[in-house]
Amino acid sequence: MKSDPPGSRPDPDRMLTPQEALAAILRHAEPLGGEQVELSRSLGRVLRQSVRSGRVLPPWDNSAMDGYAVRAAEVAVGLPLPVRGVIAAGHPATVELAPGATMRIMTGAPLPKGADAVIMREEAQEQGGEVRFTATASVGQHIRYAGEDIALGEEILRAGALLGPGEVGLLAALGRTLVEVYRQPRVAIVSTGDELVPADVQPGPGQIVNSNSHALSAQILEAGGVPIVLPIVRDDRALLRQTFVEALRADVMVSSGGVSVGEFDYVREVLAELGVVEEFARVAMKPGKPLTFSRAPNGNLCFGLPGNPASSMVSFELFVRPALRRLQGHGLAAVGRPLVPVQLATSVVPDRTRPHFARARVSRSPEPGAPLLAHVPEKQGSGMLRSMVGINALLHVPPGAASLPVGATLPATLLTVV
Ligand code: AMP
Ligand code: MG
Repeated sequence: MKSDPPGSRPDPDRMLTPQEALAAILRHAEPLGGEQVELSRSLGRVLRQSVRSGRVLPPWDNSAMDGYAVRAAEVAVGLPLPVRGVIAAGHPATVELAPGATMRIMTGAPLPKGADAVIMREEAQEQGGEVRFTATASVGQHIRYAGEDIALGEEILRAGALLGPGEVGLLAALGRTLVEVYRQPRVAIVSTGDELVPADVQPGPGQIVNSNSHALSAQILEAGGVPIVLPIVRDDRALLRQTFVEALRADVMVSSGGVSVGEFDYVREVLAELGVVEEFARVAMKPGKPLTFSRAPNGNLCFGLPGNPASSMVSFELFVRPALRRLQGHGLAAVGRPLVPVQLATSVVPDRTRPHFARARVSRSPEPGAPLLAHVPEKQGSGMLRSMVGINALLHVPPGAASLPVGATLPATLLTVV
């Protein structure tokens, strides 16, 4: 995590656009160090060192089909040739094909010396130790040559590559059972508020359940981070300070609540007391205007999310998730989700002054080439948990006075594959 030259910090009280806020965050988010993980646990991680092949694949010439190893020049349609044995997969390549003969060969079995083609079983009729073919053969047909897949010393995966199932399979074939990947950020979650009780406690008068810690924990897991849920903190400066000190031992701190202009919103001032430098505190957006981003003296990133459940989750999605992905080594172009045009299936009333990230359900029509359709539930209150349920997109609704009609096209961040 970089530090800027003195004086280059934006005024923290200025309200940033969402784009400016994300850019400011990503300026300070750099990949964490690495760790070695077992291949079986490497899915979805980002490679920290390039990988060169220490093996040739395939290791020897072998058959791509179940069939007959032949010399192509000796084959004619209908001409009987003797069958001299069977070569199964898993046997060393020591046999030799006698001139004028064929051998039965299985997929993956080493090609006998002298053979230069394989004819598939479907093009052969074998009877009484002889085989007749219904087609001729060309040299090299159905043979997988040594090294045609992977050459020795070839750079097969670059540093920065995302490990998907294909990459994992390739690493296994090369015998790489330990891989060097970027570390996953440990993310401390601090939910603040006198009114909060844990989810397994029946709320008393004036109390509500701390749902944010659970929702944020799930979002952190989904983003590839390791959530560390700290106990609820009451709106008390000393308690907040104590918990923040602990939270700053993680790589990233995410707090919820206490960043607005309420009388008991102490998060910003307690962080400042701890030497945490605020980069910005307001983003022009709905939901979620109060949103602080700051950096601890050790460079750790601190996000102060608003307490309203939908605000907290939308702010996480737009700002914390990209940072967590960057820390895990994803390239800047890969930290966000796909942004695609969608067509409104319901009309939408914009906010007059702030961009609105409306929670929406986007669906694909079965007709090929038809636009993606966005259904926008009416209830978009920032405190409404239901507004975050059953949705798969955040619609970017620009500020304005006029209602947007059905059929209008808007950009949307897709939260799932549609
Ligand atoms: P605050 O940002 O602290 O002013 O809180 C804004 C609203 O979000 C209030 O109605 C809080 O009760 C609610 N809230 C704050 N923290 C949480 C939480 N952890 N889980 C659920 N709701 C919360
Ligand atoms: Mg509060």
